[in-house]
Amino acid sequence: MMMNIANHQTHMMFDKLGRFRFMAGMTLRGPWRDEVDVYKFVEHDVAPPNTRVIIPIQVHGSVISHLGDAGLLSNFDADGVITRRENVCLTVTTADCMPILAADPISGYFAAIHVGWRSFVAGIIDNFFQIGRGLGMSFSRTRVFWGPSIGSCCFAVGPEVAALFDESWVENRNGVLYVDLKGAVQDRLISLGLVGENIGGISDCTSCNPDRYYSYRRDKNSPVQMVTFIYRTA
Ligand SMILES: [Zn+2]
Repeated sequence: MMMNIANHQTHMMFDKLGRFRFMAGMTLRGPWRDEVDVYKFVEHDVAPPNTRVIIPIQVHGSVISHLGDAGLLSNFDADGVITRRENVCLTVTTADCMPILAADPISGYFAAIHVGWRSFVAGIIDNFFQIGRGLGMSFSRTRVFWGPSIGSCCFAVGPEVAALFDESWVENRNGVLYVDLKGAVQDRLISLGLVGENIGGISDCTSCNPDRYYSYRRDKNSPVQMVTFIYRTA
C-alpha cells in the first residue's frame, strides 16, 4: 500500500490486488466549507468519470448494504456498503469514528464501513463477515485499511459505554475510563479470519492532530468531516 498526499487528500492505494485494482483514499482537513464541498471534490477530482459516488446515511447502526450488479442505492440508512461493481465509489464519513475499507483480491468485492463504538458493539464487523461470506468473499486474502480515528489517548467514555467493551480495551487513568476502539476492532477482524499482515492503516488520533484531521469531539459543531473512499477499476 502506497501513500502520498496532494490536494488535501491522502491516497491509500491498495493498488493491484489479484485481477483487480482498488483505489482508495481519504480527504484531510482542508478548505471545505461543508460536507457538500468535500463530496464535490470526491466526485469531480477523485472518482473516475462516469462513476457514481455512493453516500449512505450513517446512523451508528450495524447494517451493511449490498450494492448488487443492477440498480443503485440512494437515500438509504447504512453504516457500510459492499459491492464488486465498477463505476461506483463507496464512501464513509468520519471525524473520530473509524473509517474501514476492505478489498478482496479473489472475488473483487470491496467495502467501506463506518465503525464508531455504537456500530462496533452492535456487531457491524460480524455483519460484514456474514454478508461477505454469503457473497463468496475470501477473508484469508482480504485487505483491510483503516483511517485515523480517536485514539485511546483521548476517547474518554462513561462507565456504561466502557462496560460494553472487553476489559482489555478499557484503561482507567486517574479515574477516567478510556476505550481503545482500534484495538478492539483489530482484534475482532483477526478473530473472524483476517490475516494480521493484511490489515493496517493510519493509526493517528484525530483529536491529537488538529492540523490534519477533523475531530467530532474536539471541533464540536464543525460542518465538515473526512470522507474515506474506495473504488475498483478493472
Ligand atoms: Zn488523542
